[in-house]
Amino acid sequence: MQGTVAQPRAAIVSVGNELLYGETVDTNAAWLGRWLGELGITVVRRFTVGDRRADIDEALERALEAADLVILSGGLGPTPDDLTKSVVADHFGLGLVVVDSVVRRLEEHFRAGGYDEVPPLSLGQAELPEGAIPLRNPSGTAPGILLSRDRARIVLLPGVPHELRDIAAGDLADELDAWLGPESRHRAHHRVIHTTGLAETSLAQRLEPRLQALGREMTGGVDLAYLPDLRGVDLRFTLAGGTAQEAAERFDRLLGALDDVLGPWRFEGESGDIADALSVALRARGWRLAVAESCTGGLVGKRLTDRPGASDVFVGGVIAYDDAVKVDLLGVDRERLERDGAVSEAVARQLAKGVAERLGVETGVGVTGVAGPGGGSDEKPVGTVWISTAVQGDVEVTLHRFAGDREAVRERAAQAALASLYRRLTATSGSD
Ligand code: AMP
Ligand code: MG
Repeated sequence: MQGTVAQPRAAIVSVGNELLYGETVDTNAAWLGRWLGELGITVVRRFTVGDRRADIDEALERALEAADLVILSGGLGPTPDDLTKSVVADHFGLGLVVVDSVVRRLEEHFRAGGYDEVPPLSLGQAELPEGAIPLRNPSGTAPGILLSRDRARIVLLPGVPHELRDIAAGDLADELDAWLGPESRHRAHHRVIHTTGLAETSLAQRLEPRLQALGREMTGGVDLAYLPDLRGVDLRFTLAGGTAQEAAERFDRLLGALDDVLGPWRFEGESGDIADALSVALRARGWRLAVAESCTGGLVGKRLTDRPGASDVFVGGVIAYDDAVKVDLLGVDRERLERDGAVSEAVARQLAKGVAERLGVETGVGVTGVAGPGGGSDEKPVGTVWISTAVQGDVEVTLHRFAGDREAVRERAAQAALASLYRRLTATSGSD
C-alpha cells in the first residue's frame, strides 16, 4: 500500500441483524480491537448495524470521518442479505468487476469439495469493487477485500470469526505492514502481569504512587491498563515503538522496581490461570494435591482438571457438602461442627488435613463458606468463606469475605483456594 500514516486510527463496522438482536455476540470487533492494538493501530470507534443498505452506508461514512482504516465485518456471503460489498462499491461510485485470481481459487475450493463447477451464487464472490485487492481466505469462499481511497484504507472481512482471523493474520497483516512502513516503528509491545487476591482499586492505590515516584525515566511512554475479572487483575504494560528487545529491557527494569509492591499478589504463568501456576509449583516438588470442597462444590477440582496433564499433581477430592460427608469421610469432629457450625475455622482446618491424609498426598485444600443467596447471618454473612491449606501436615486457615452473587462468591473462593496453596509453595521454594 502507498502513503504511510504516522498514528493510524481505526474504526470497526460490524454488520448483521443477529448482532443487533443479541443472537450473536460481536466477538469480531473485540478480537480486531486487540489485534489492531498489537500492531500499534488504535481503534477509535465501533459501529454495529443490521443488514440494511442505508445503515451500512451511514456507518461507513461516519467511520471514514473518524479513522484512516475502516474494517467492516460481516455481510460478505453469497446470499441476498449479504450487502456490504455492494454498499461499499456504491458508496465510492465503483462498479463490481470479476477478479480472475478469485475465480481460480473458488474453482479449486469447490473441486476439492467434489463439485464440477462453482455454484452460480458463489461465483458472485469473485466480484470486487474496481481497484480493490482480494485478501485470501484460507478457510472459506468469501475473500477479504482491501480498497484504498486517498489516505484511507477500507477492509471488508467475512463475519465467520475464524475466517476473519485467518484473513487478518495472513494477507491483511502483510498489507498493513506495508502501509505502516518499517514494522518496528509503530509496533506496540506488551507485558502482561497476572495478580490475584487484591481488588483493582487496592492494587492501583499501591501501584500509582510508586509509578509517580519512579519518574519519567522509568515510566515514560509506558501505558498501564488494569484488567480485572472475578479471578484477579491482569496488569498490561504497553510501550509503543522501539524494538522488542528494547521494550523487554524497559519492562524488566520497571517490573524490577515494582517487585516489592506486586510480589505478594503476582503469580507466574503464561496462561494467566493460577491453576496452571499451582500445578507447576507442585510438579517442581514432586508433590500431589487433594481437595475438600463444600461451598465450591467441585469448582477447585474442575479448575485443576480443566487442562490435560493434571493427573500427576492432582489426585481428586471430596465434595463435602452435607455435614455427614464432612464427618464420615474427612474426620471432621461432629461436636465441634455442631458447636462452631460448618462454616468455621475448625471445620476448614479439618477439611484440608483430612483429605490430604485420607488420600495419602503431601498437600490438601479445603473450602467452606456461605455462597448465598440465602444462609447468611449477621455473624456469617453471605460471602464468608474459610480456606485451608495443608502442606505436609501443617495446616493454615484464612477467613475471606467475598463480594458478589453466588457465582461470584464461588468463583472467587475457588481462585483464593488455589492461590493460597500456590503462595505457600512459592514462599518457601528454594528452602528445601
Ligand atoms: P456473514 O459474514 O454476515 O454471513 O456472517 C456469517 C456468520 O458469522 C453469522 O451467522 C454469525 O454467526 C457470524 N458473525 C457475523 N458477524 C459476527 C461478529 N461481529 N462477531 C462474531 N460472529 C459474527
Ligand atoms: Mg450476515
